[in-house]
Amino acid sequence: MTIPEENSRAQVLALCGGIGGAKLALGLYRTLGPGHLTVAVNTGDDFTHLGLHVSPDIDTVAYTLAGLNDTERGWGLAGETWHFMEALGRLGGDTWFQLGDHDLATHVVRTQRLAAGETLSQVTAGLATRLGLHARLLPMSDDPVRTLVDTEEGRLAFQNYFVEHRCRPRVTGISFAGAETAKPQDDVLALLADGTLAAIVICPSNPYLSVDPMLAIPGLREALKASAAPVIAVSPIVGGKAVKGPTAKIMEELGLPVSIRAIADHYRDLIDGFILDDADAADSTGLGIPSVATRTLMETLGDRERLARSVLDFAAGLRRHR
Ligand code: GDP
Repeated sequence: MTIPEENSRAQVLALCGGIGGAKLALGLYRTLGPGHLTVAVNTGDDFTHLGLHVSPDIDTVAYTLAGLNDTERGWGLAGETWHFMEALGRLGGDTWFQLGDHDLATHVVRTQRLAAGETLSQVTAGLATRLGLHARLLPMSDDPVRTLVDTEEGRLAFQNYFVEHRCRPRVTGISFAGAETAKPQDDVLALLADGTLAAIVICPSNPYLSVDPMLAIPGLREALKASAAPVIAVSPIVGGKAVKGPTAKIMEELGLPVSIRAIADHYRDLIDGFILDDADAADSTGLGIPSVATRTLMETLGDRERLARSVLDFAAGLRRHR
């Protein structure tokens, strides 16, 4: 049973970071069909580079849902060319952050519209429309929140940590500059209070770098808890390891066990259900949260859709018991 059959107005809200989260967002989008999915996206990774406002996670989700993402490289646009970067390098410009020629257009348009007074929400909605998306794409906030990573080599802005230093420095702490005065995006709050919301899905994004920036915004955690819709988190830890990226490394560095239990504990006060991978089923006894074990590794499009269906079915069951 999928949600649209139950209620033609039913909505699903996904909280999402970049690449890992976008995989499930795509599965949800394809499973729910047009008009039923809203994705609230982390903007803690946003930064100004070469004078341009870059929103890496928003762009990853937009390109992925539009089917324009490069699946081989794992980020950016398929069929990308790099003439701008070559020219930039020749002139001695900053080349540590790769901006493809086609991707560059997104950042130019975003920067121009923000400078003309549009909000990031308006700019993002415009991008989604132009890419032909039938899902709502919302930044977590229209106010700037910037993820800062404290490391043994000092404090680093997120992209310097992630891209320039390739997540090598040992992490000692993570903070979110601006979060304390930021407001959650209005439509996210409205949706959380809306009776048509059928499920809230915390995608298998990095909990510390991609989801925590959202939860650091005052009011968002409370609104998630107050929503009538069940909140389900999908574990980014599969078989005791991260599928990709620094999640496991950061957990170790922060003194956490690299386990589904640590992920469940991280979200414990917020979630009604937890989805873990079959590979971790042995670790799931006594988790203390309703949980489902299934294949969560999303290698194919079919994997993404199957996981999305499992999430939605789990939510439908939890909704009846709430
Ligand atoms: P980023 O912002 O691009 O790093 O992406 P996210 O924060 O959205 O996602 C990173 C997380 O996604 C990592 O912790 C990965 O373990 C997780 N991840 C990536 N692919 C998969 C997958 O196929 N299944 C699951 N369960 N997690 C995944």
